[in-house]
Amino acid sequence: MSITVVGSIAYDTVKTPFGERERMLGGAAVHFALAASFFEDVAVVGPVGDDFGEEQIAVMRSRGVDVEGIERIAGGRTFFWHGEYGWDLNSRETIDTQLGVFEGFEPKLTAGALSSDVLFLANIQPDLQRQVRAQMPDARFVALDSMNLWIDIARDPLLAAISEVDCVILNDAELRQLTGKPNLVAAAREVLSWRPARGAPGRGPSVVVAKQGEYGAALVTRESFFALPAYPLETVIDPTGAGDTFAGGFVGYIAAHPREPLGEELLRGAMAHATVLASFNVEEFGTERIERLQAAEIAERIRDLHAMTQFAGAPLALRG
Ligand code: AMP
Repeated sequence: MSITVVGSIAYDTVKTPFGERERMLGGAAVHFALAASFFEDVAVVGPVGDDFGEEQIAVMRSRGVDVEGIERIAGGRTFFWHGEYGWDLNSRETIDTQLGVFEGFEPKLTAGALSSDVLFLANIQPDLQRQVRAQMPDARFVALDSMNLWIDIARDPLLAAISEVDCVILNDAELRQLTGKPNLVAAAREVLSWRPARGAPGRGPSVVVAKQGEYGAALVTRESFFALPAYPLETVIDPTGAGDTFAGGFVGYIAAHPREPLGEELLRGAMAHATVLASFNVEEFGTERIERLQAAEIAERIRDLHAMTQFAGAPLALRG
C-alpha cells in the first residue's frame, strides 16, 4: 500500500448556478483517493455513520481504493457539508457543516494503511491529522490540506500539524489568512520557515502549493517558484472537491516516483497532473466525472497543458 489518506468522508449537498444535488458522495478524503488511485494504491482512513451506503463504498472500491480503514460507527451520522456557489465559482458559502462521527473519533490505522510510505492529511480537524501523522513517523512524504474553518477555530493545532509535514497544499486566501501576509510568496516563505517542536515528527515543510481556483496554482520551495494556469474549460458545473482532486494528482504523482528526489522536475510534473485531474472534477457534480475518467483522457490533457504553457526562452535583444 503506497498512499494513506485521512480526512472527511462525507455526504455533500451542493447548489451551483447549474443545478443542485442532495447528499451525494463527497468528502476531502474521498475526492483525494479517487484522484490518487490513477497513480498508486490508496488506503482511506476515517469514520462513517450508519447512514453511509454500500453504494458509496463501492465507488471507492471500483477504483481499487483500500476501504478497510473506513470505520462504521454504530448509531453515528456521516460527516455532512452543505455549500452554495454563486456565478463566481471561485467563492462559495458554507451553509452547514455537521461533524457527526468525526466528533470523538480516534483514528487507529490498519496494518495496510500503516505500511504506506506516503501520507496525505486531507482537510479535517488538525488534531486528528496529527494523531495520524504520529502513527506514521517514518513516512517518506507527508502532505496536508486544511481550510478557513480550522484556521479560525483550531489555529494552534493547525500550526503544529503543518510544522510536522513536508508539503502544504492550501488555497491562496487560506495561506494569507494563516500567515497574515498579503503577498503569496512571502506567505509561502513564512510557512517554509516553520519547524516541528522538539520530539515531533518531520523536518518542517519544504514545499508549499497555493491553489488559486480557476486561475491555477503556484508552487513555492526555498529555492524555486513555479506556476501553472488551470486547464481552460468552457463548462464548469461544480468545483466541490477540486482542491482535494488536485492534491490527489499532486501527491499521487510523487508517490508514483519513489526513487526520484523531491526536486524541481518531479514537483513540476506533479503540478501538471494535479491541474489536469482537478479540471475533470469540476466538469460534473461531486465525484460523477472522476468515476468515469479514463487514464488516456488524463494523458491527452497533460499533452495539451504542456503545449499551452511553453514559450521560447531565449531573451530578445531589447532596445534600450
Ligand atoms: P474542496 O472543494 O476541495 O475544498 O473540498 C470539498 C470537500 O470538503 C467536500 O466534499 C466536503 O465534504 C469537504 N469539507 C467541507 N468542509 C469541511 C470541513 N470543515 N472539514 C473537512 N471536510 C470538509
